[in-house]
Order: sequence, then structure tokens, then C-alpha cells
Amino acid sequence: NLSDKLDKALHVLKGHGKITEVNVAETLKEVRRALLDADVNFKIAKNFTKTVKEKALGQDVLTSLNPSQLMVKLVKDELTELMGGETVGINLSGNPTVILMSGLQGSGKTTFSGKLANYLKTKKTKQVLLVGCDVYRPAAINQLQVVGEQIGVEVYAEVGNQNPVEISQNALKHAKSTGKNVVIIDTAGRLAVDEEMMTEISNIHKAVNPQETLFVVDSMTGQDAVNTAKAFNDILNFEGVVLTKLDGDTRGGAALSIKSVVDKPIKFIGTGEKMEAIDVFHPDRMADRILGMGDVVSLVERAQEQYDEEEARKIQKKIAKNQFGFDDFLKQIQQIKKMGNMKDLMGMIPGAGKMMKDVDIDDDAFKGIEAIIHSMTPGEREEPKTINASRKKRIAKGSGTSIQEVNQLLKQFGQMSKMMKMMQGGGGRKMMQMMKG
Ligand code: GDP
Ligand code: MG
Repeated sequence: NLSDKLDKALHVLKGHGKITEVNVAETLKEVRRALLDADVNFKIAKNFTKTVKEKALGQDVLTSLNPSQLMVKLVKDELTELMGGETVGINLSGNPTVILMSGLQGSGKTTFSGKLANYLKTKKTKQVLLVGCDVYRPAAINQLQVVGEQIGVEVYAEVGNQNPVEISQNALKHAKSTGKNVVIIDTAGRLAVDEEMMTEISNIHKAVNPQETLFVVDSMTGQDAVNTAKAFNDILNFEGVVLTKLDGDTRGGAALSIKSVVDKPIKFIGTGEKMEAIDVFHPDRMADRILGMGDVVSLVERAQEQYDEEEARKIQKKIAKNQFGFDDFLKQIQQIKKMGNMKDLMGMIPGAGKMMKDVDIDDDAFKGIEAIIHSMTPGEREEPKTINASRKKRIAKGSGTSIQEVNQLLKQFGQMSKMMKMMQGGGGRKMMQMMKG
């Protein structure tokens, strides 16, 4: 499977301390093959690997993220970016909001209409009206009515009326008079793109002026999906894509191809026949899915943590040897800044938010300090003792601060170094004893 292949590809990189042109080329050949297997369009796969290559060669491998992990991260990030990067929601600003479904027969329009109605009804507490505009097959209207009953949403249909433009206009009137704020119009599709279907959907589109026209596509159709998407987008200039039938082991390479060709966000995915089988589309999760590696992120995160630990150990050694300098101090500041994100995270945990409130970690707090340190020479950073009056003056000037501020930082730094020395190897215990008296 794809994951094994990628492992193999990345194996080439293992043990190499540096990303080089040769091992990148080797790896990306495999990545490209893997993408093609996942049904990604050939041209897109080719471009993709080219971009990743450029990015990879520009990277220094300094951290304990080894080259293979770094490549995984690059590949994943780039895939995510290609699929839009961020999640894009639907626009519900209309009154009522009109959502028009488009797509081929069997793509999942009727099913998705029901899922979306159910989703909006339960998650967003909207009053939804479903409209049946597939007038060619009596069974189609019936299917929608069954769905509506199942989820408790009203279905508007006109038995005998063969004009979908008229039906959709009447449905809008009905929605207004019954206080609905979302109208979802299900339309007829055909087995392939044809002129009649395009004219009909285009006419409905003009008549109801929807906030959201969604193109529904079966993710198992692979390359054909791209051409269909393009045809519908040329006529409708739709707002978003819905990828259905992503349950089972469909890889979802179509997501990547469609996004690249029509440049419209994928907004939802369908993952089963049940009404609950609907999900908001997350580009990063789809990237994982395409790569077939659910644990990529945690892998990279673990490596990142390791890096921090290593860094901490190095610093401890330096403190023990009295070699702790301003460069190390800068690194510490960077670590603390990272905690800024942690604070947001902690805020989500009940109780912990309060705890973190008093710890004010804010980037600006360090700006002056960082500026002062940056104005020191490497030698001064290593041996702060050498910073005499004239050097202080130069540093203050260089950093746009005052001599007092430089003095203050030096004093604090001196105290901190002393304290840290004391905390080292059992010193902490000694200090606690001292404090207890
Ligand atoms: P339409 O012709 O575009 O309206 O397509 P339908 O909504 O009638 O769906 C066609 C078939 O695909 C039906 O049998 C649905 O149950 C099935 N279907 C729709 N969405 C999904 C999905 O996300 N997963 C699976 N497994 N089946 C789906
Ligand atoms: Mg249908």
C-alpha cells in the first residue's frame, strides 16, 4: 500500500544527515508514484513533487527531525496547501439562503441534500426546506420525500410539473411564507455531461440566484471527476465541492485534482449512506488520508519535542559548567514564546485557563530583550562579563534602548545565572531547605 511505498521511499533518506539533490529525487519519484496510485492527476503529481523538491533543497536539517521526517512533513504540508490549506464553511447569509446542488446522476446529490438539511437543522438550528427538482424520474422525488421524512424536514415538490425553474421559484415563495431560512434545491443529473442538463441547471441557477452552488462528485470516479468538475464550473462558477463516497478505502486523490483544476474549495465530504455520514472537509486530514499515514503528524510532533528536550539538556550542561550565555538565553525565550500557543490550548481545559491567566506570555514582552541581545557580538553573548561601559553604550544604541535597560538586563541575567546554578544537581533541594528555614 501507499504507506509502505512511502516508507520505502523515505528509507532512502534515513541515515543521511542532510537533504541532498540525490536523495530528494529518489524519494520524490516514489512519492509521485504513490500520488498516481491515489488517483491524483499526472500533471498535478508532477508539479507537486517539483515544488516539494525545491522546498526540500532549501532546508537545513538542524533539528532532530531527520531528513525523512522532514520530507514527510514537507509532503504533507504541501498537499494540505494544495487542497486549500484551510477549511472553508458555507455562506448562510441569505434570507432565505438558497443552496443549489449540481452534479451527475448517482453522484449523491439527493443523499447529500438530506445530509446537509439534517446537519443545518441539528448543528445550526436552521429551518430548512428541501426542494425536489428532478422532474424526470418520479422515483427521484419519492427518494427525497423519504429522506425528508426520515430527518423531519419539509420537502417541496410539484407532482406533474415538468418545469424545474418554475418549481424552484415557487419553492422560494413557499419558503418565505413558511418562515424557512435555508432552501436546498436538489436537481436532476445525467450519466454524463450533456447540453440539456447544463442548460437546465444554468436556468435554475439564474432563476434562484443561490448563495451556494455546490458541485457534488463521487470520489470514486477518479480522473473523470476532474473533467466533470470543469464542465460544471464553466457554466455555474460554483462556490464549493462536495466529495461523496469517501467511506471505504477510496483514497481521495480526486480532491487534490479537482481543487487544482477548478480552484474552488471542497466544503463537505460524504462518508456513507446514512444521514449522519457528513463531515466538514479538512485539508490536513485529507492530506493524511492521501498519504495513508494517519500518524504522520504525531511522528513529526514527537521529533519536535525531542528537539526541545535535547536543547534543554544542552543548556543544563552549560549551566553546570558556567557557560550559560546570552545565546542560550535567547533560545530559552524562544521556548517560552512557544508556550504562548500552549496558553491558548490550556485555556480550553476547564480550570486550567484560570491558572494560566496570571502567567502573561506575550511576544512583545521580549522584544526589547531580544533587540538588546541581538545587538551584542557573539563574544559578548558568550561572556557577558566583558560588556563594559562603552560596549553598553554601543548595545543600547544598536538596539534602540537605553543604557539603563541594558544594565537591567545584564543584572537580571547575572541573577538568573546564579539561580540556575543553584538549582542544578541537588541545588534545588538545598534552596528549598533554605526557604523553609
Ligand atoms: P444523485 O443521483 O446524485 O441524487 O445520487 P443519490 O443521492 O441518489 O446517490 C446515489 C447512490 O449513492 C445511492 O445509492 C446513495 O445511497 C449512494 N451514496 C450517496 N452518498 C454516499 C456516500 O457518501 N457513501 C456511500 N457509500 N454511498 C453514498
Ligand atoms: Mg437524485
